[in-house]
Order: sequence, then structure tokens, then C-alpha cells
Amino acid sequence: MCDEPLTCTVNERLQPIYNMTEKRSEISDLGEFGLIDRIAQHTQLQNSTSVVGIGDDAAVLDGGEEYILVSTDLLAEGVHFDLAFTPLHHLGHKAISVNVSDIAAMNGKAEQVVVSLALSNRFSVEAVDALYEGIRAACQQYKVDLVGGDTTASRSGLILSITAVGRVPKDKVVYRSGAKPNDIICVTGDLGASYIGLQVLEREKEVYLVNPDMQPGLEKYEYMVGRQLRPIARTDIVFELAELGIKPTAMIDISDGLASELFHLGKNSGVGTRIFEDKVPIDQAAYEAMALEFKIDPITCALNGGEDYELLFTIHPDDFEKIKNHQDIHMIGYVHEKPNEHTLVTKHGNAVPLRAQGWDHFKSGG
Ligand code: ADP
Ligand code: MG
Repeated sequence: MCDEPLTCTVNERLQPIYNMTEKRSEISDLGEFGLIDRIAQHTQLQNSTSVVGIGDDAAVLDGGEEYILVSTDLLAEGVHFDLAFTPLHHLGHKAISVNVSDIAAMNGKAEQVVVSLALSNRFSVEAVDALYEGIRAACQQYKVDLVGGDTTASRSGLILSITAVGRVPKDKVVYRSGAKPNDIICVTGDLGASYIGLQVLEREKEVYLVNPDMQPGLEKYEYMVGRQLRPIARTDIVFELAELGIKPTAMIDISDGLASELFHLGKNSGVGTRIFEDKVPIDQAAYEAMALEFKIDPITCALNGGEDYELLFTIHPDDFEKIKNHQDIHMIGYVHEKPNEHTLVTKHGNAVPLRAQGWDHFKSGG
């Protein structure tokens, strides 16, 4: 029972929101992950069907024969996307992909999505059509069904919230918490290109604002821009690992950056990691754009860029033989027993501590 008083003054209601007392704490000081930890600490599960709650890529519910997986993501205009360079079709597709990716990170398969929309009157019916074309294309690609949602008005642009529901056999579910010392750390695909794609798109927007007749060619950056605008969830890897007879010991998808995800995996598993710079996969064209054009150390992009939507997982050393020839799975390091100690061994052989910068939306104001 909530026993807060029902009758109070406007001042009393607004006080906790603005909290102008000395005790006021800023969300930006806590950060997104600190805030989630705080919510989790004060949340207890009451039903035996709630197997795992806050803290993994998806919640795990007991569905009888199998586990049901539930994951949700919210995309806000001006925070997660800029419509000056994000076609609505791609936005719809991406919103589905990022949720399907979270289900894949549990070693599961997404089967349904619900889509909720808040729209300002700036948007036409055709705009909504374009958004849903992308949503439907992604649903077809991943074989998931759009089964509901909610629609409302917004005073501040477009807000898109998607919840995906999936399934996994009970003995196949993979958590962030199962990594053990000596496990091999693997990543799929390549990292950092999405971040460079975003830099290219932002640069294009700046050029356009100065001179709308200028149309910078993006052909050279097609791969990077594609990684940013239309990431693909690695459902293929979940399938292939099963074919190879491998169940990862732990898994997470790379949404905030490799470094940040290594910290999550390490924290949940009570272990540390050691990775090798020369093993971290980076696309060649993206590497050149990072180093030569944007003058950012490519490993920094790969570690902290985010939005790659690749899978980061650990396997038991016995599974090494089964995976070693896979073209798209890269072994980048190993797990060790020292909790919270995450190290990068550079190309020159120096061991440097990793920092989990990630992308913290609360730090950028708004
Ligand atoms: P991901 O990057 O995989 O989408 P997040 O970092 O967004 O994961 O969330 C981590 C965990 O915290 C998930 O289990 C998610 O469901 C939970 N979570 C995030 N925000 C909230 C919230 N406001 N209330 C309750 N749980 C939350
Ligand atoms: Mg995730």
C-alpha cells in the first residue's frame, strides 16, 4: 500500500522534483548506470515466474516449458536520433533491431514487438507511414510480429518506445553473470564504425546548415553510415553458436561501447578481463576515417563508440577449437579472477587500465 498523503500543496508536490535543498543530488553525477542500480536496489521480485529482473539485457520470465524474454528501449528525438540525418524508415528499422539485439544477447529469439509512439503535430501521416515501413521491414527480416503498442501526442518531437518479447529454452539462456576465469572473450563483426558514421552524418548536417546547396558525397562512408543508421542485430550468431554446439558462458550486446560492456559483464560475473588491442576488429575503411580524417585513435572508437549492436560473449576454453575458424567471431582476450580489473594490452605491449566511458545521455544536458 502506498501511504503517501493524498492531499498536499503544489509546493509539497513540486519539492521532490526540483529538490532545491542542500540534499539535492544530480542525476548526471549518478549517471545512467548508477541510477539503474539505485532503482534495482529498491526493487524486489514477488512472483516466482519473475526469474531475473533488472540487470541483464532482458528480463527472464518462466513461461512453463521455456523462458520468456522481455526487453524495452526508448528512443527520444534530439537525444538518440537527429531527424536531419536519420530517415524515418531507418529509424523504424533501427528501433526494432536494438530490441531484437537485446533478446539475442540472452541467446534467445525475438518473436513479438509492441511499438509505442508519441508524436508532435510537426509529423505528417506520410511520416508515420515511413516509420512503419522501416518497422515492418525489420519485423520481416527478424521474423517478429508487431502485435500492439500505444499512440499519443507529444510536445517535444518524436518518442519511440519498443518492447520485444522472445523465447529461449531454459537450458540455453545466457546471462551477463556466467563468465569464469580463463574463459575466452569473443566479439562479433567489427567495432567503432557506427560512431564514425555518426560523425560523418553530423559533419554533413553542419555543411548543409552553412550551405544548403552543398551535397557532400557519402559513398565513401557507406559502410559506416549504414552501421549507424541501420544496425543489424546478430540473430545469425545465436543460430550459428547453437549449430556449433556452443553455449556462451556470458553474453551482452554492444550498445554503449566495448569497454562499458566489459565492465557490465565483469561486474555481473565477479571477474575481470584482459583484452588485446591488435585483436579488436575494426573495419579497414572505418579505421582510415578514424585515424586520418577524424584524428581519433581507432581503438578509442572501438572501445567507446557504441551503437555497434554486435555481441560480446565469453566461451569455455574447451570450445576454442569449435570457434577458431569462424570468420566473423574474434577472440580478443580472456577472463581473469580479479573483479573490476579490466586491462587493454596495446599494440606495443603496454598494459593500460580500461575506462568505461560509454555514452551517458545525462551528461549532455537537456
Ligand atoms: P541495454 O543497454 O542492454 O538496453 P540498459 O543499460 O538500458 O540495458 O538497462 C540495463 C538493465 O536495467 C536492464 O535490465 C533494464 O531492463 C533495466 N532498466 C533500465 N532502466 C530502467 C528503469 N527506469 N526501471 C527499471 N529497470 C530499468
Ligand atoms: Mg543490451
